[in-house]
Amino acid sequence: MKELDVFENWPFKVPNIEKVKTKIIEFTNNLKNAKTEEEALKVVKHYFKEFQKVDNEITHISVLYSIDTRVKKYEKAMGVLDEGIPTLQAADLEFKKAFLNSKFRPYLEKKLGSFIFTMYDYSLRAFDEKIVEEAVEENKLVTEYNKTIASAKIEFRGETYNLTQIGKFMQDLDRQTRKEASEAYYNYLETIKDKLEDIYDKLVKVRDKMAKKLGYKNYVELGYIRMNRFDYNKEDVACYRNQIKEVVTPLVEKFIKEKFKRTKISKPTYYDLSLTFADGNPTPLGTTKDKINNAQKMYDQMSKETSEFFKFLDEHHLLQLEAKEGKQSGGYMTYFPVYKTPIIFSNFNGTAGDVDVLTHEFGHAFQGHLSSNIKVPDYHMPTMESCEIHSMSMEFFAHPYMNLFFDNPEKYKYMHLEDAISFLPYGVTVDHFQEWVYENPNATKEERNAKWHELETMYAPYKEKYFKDCKFLYEGGRWLRQNHIFASPFYYIDYTLAQVVAFQFFNLDRKNHELAWKKYIALCKMGGKYPFRELIKKSHLKDPFVDGTIKSTIKPLIKELKSYKID
Ligand SMILES: [Zn+2]
Repeated sequence: MKELDVFENWPFKVPNIEKVKTKIIEFTNNLKNAKTEEEALKVVKHYFKEFQKVDNEITHISVLYSIDTRVKKYEKAMGVLDEGIPTLQAADLEFKKAFLNSKFRPYLEKKLGSFIFTMYDYSLRAFDEKIVEEAVEENKLVTEYNKTIASAKIEFRGETYNLTQIGKFMQDLDRQTRKEASEAYYNYLETIKDKLEDIYDKLVKVRDKMAKKLGYKNYVELGYIRMNRFDYNKEDVACYRNQIKEVVTPLVEKFIKEKFKRTKISKPTYYDLSLTFADGNPTPLGTTKDKINNAQKMYDQMSKETSEFFKFLDEHHLLQLEAKEGKQSGGYMTYFPVYKTPIIFSNFNGTAGDVDVLTHEFGHAFQGHLSSNIKVPDYHMPTMESCEIHSMSMEFFAHPYMNLFFDNPEKYKYMHLEDAISFLPYGVTVDHFQEWVYENPNATKEERNAKWHELETMYAPYKEKYFKDCKFLYEGGRWLRQNHIFASPFYYIDYTLAQVVAFQFFNLDRKNHELAWKKYIALCKMGGKYPFRELIKKSHLKDPFVDGTIKSTIKPLIKELKSYKID
């Protein structure tokens, strides 16, 4: 294979949906008509390869679009995908059906493993030609949401910012700056609230319709299948959320009290919650380039593999980190199967969050890289909750190198760990909310916001008090800014499950670094060959769903927090 070119030189190609569809049908027929087991396997392998090409093109388009939503060429290509992908999904499903029903199944199972059959069975249960129209509608609505968020223009002290860029001022040391920036941010959200609520209402209804057309009671059932939750269910999740409420909620209440004691704010309100220390939150040193250089130094020291791989990403311009006008919000890593490389996308805003990107998204990318030799594309990456273990654990493996990024690394480590623990109640709130939403698809917008407020207060009672000064937050509007709720329903509890597992890696790393790192690499290399709970079991870690895991995982972290010199 010839040397990979830098990202901006990659050829841009929009797949011809009709042609791809015809090809898929051909493969399906070839698989059905295969005379021998070897022939069947050959068709399947060839199909994997062809589909990776299309996957590569689709990924390329969506990445380019997310980097600049203003470019008409990309917007047009996204339109083709929004329209076309459901058609391809339907065709792909026919192939999967033929695969599942192949008379050579025992041989295919022997060669490809049996888990792929479980996966395909889920795909079949999640989709059918009869919901193509709804799926197209769903994609369009998600694109509309992303565009609305990305095109936000917030005026603040004579300058214009997007929703991410203003975040820096919302945690500024100067209280007046925090106040004005937060007001500008929430006042802006107030102006698009109606529009966002409308989009969501349509999304809920179209998803509910899909679920019912497929024969499910409601979208909760379909959502779990679409998220490929192979080895846990709604009841497991409910029990898990309860553990968080019992163990973590009171702890976070304590954090907040201590925080306000530390920051010496006498009458704290919502915009003071973001300030961790009296002299300001630790912010990383230098420009984006400096941060990349420091990250390179960190990965050089961490291991040979991390060193080489980070260098590769930088040299191929696969670190798209700067916040720019027209760029979609958030951060992600995605993988190009043909080029066998990931890309990291983010919106740096000068906060400690920038460093989290360099560790978190890099963790994802590193796993993609470590399992790039896995031949079956479906096994390359595990399901979402498992993927986040790779990234969140990397954030903690990076702790010993934080002196490269911060004047006061202890303060960063404290803030990072405290935030990670405090995230758990929020994460389960998002999950609980969605469960309620899809169980009550005809609820009004007001009822939805009220439910959010109720759940938010249940998992984080302190918010009730501090949110009183902000209409948008107090009326339960926070969820409108949570992309996942719109774009990937039920994709959220995943972060919290992974966080609990990452905490275990952290605890082990403090005791025995070599063992922790070895286990981590092994987990990354397993890719998606197993479902979540099995990956945990194979790594000899504790299962978050099992009662008691949260308590025993959190306990050493409290001690760890106390050990940091933050005064
Ligand atoms: Zn992630």
